[in-house]
Amino acid sequence: MSFTNILHGINLFLAENLFYALLGVLLLNILQRRQRQTSARKRMATFYISVLILVWMIGTILIVHFNLPDMLQLPLLAVLIYIGWRYRTHTFPFRRYCANCGQALSGGRILHHDANLCETCEPDKQASSQQN
Ligand SMILES: [Zn+2]
Repeated sequence: MSFTNILHGINLFLAENLFYALLGVLLLNILQRRQRQTSARKRMATFYISVLILVWMIGTILIVHFNLPDMLQLPLLAVLIYIGWRYRTHTFPFRRYCANCGQALSGGRILHHDANLCETCEPDKQASSQQN
């Protein structure tokens, strides 16, 4: 199997399955809406990521549909990765560990809390803000 054959297979797979990745990120975005107050930046991040995936999906579908050279996938992906990396503070504000003490963050904290602080470093402001 040559490199172009493999690339063609990858393009076909992406054209059929990127939709599900898009759906997954949008679902995550909807879940984040439940905690609007603390997750504004991260909610925008999942939105930006979904836009990048949408462009990736449309580009791949165009390549497959119009029988364009499969090689076009490489510059397409490179441009999208570059944009995502260039604006990484907006597209990927998620951190695995607390910004203050380095403790591992829970999934909910990673997804819903812009500050990237653990429960100890950021005492439950949310409980008090919900009472207001
Ligand atoms: Zn901490």
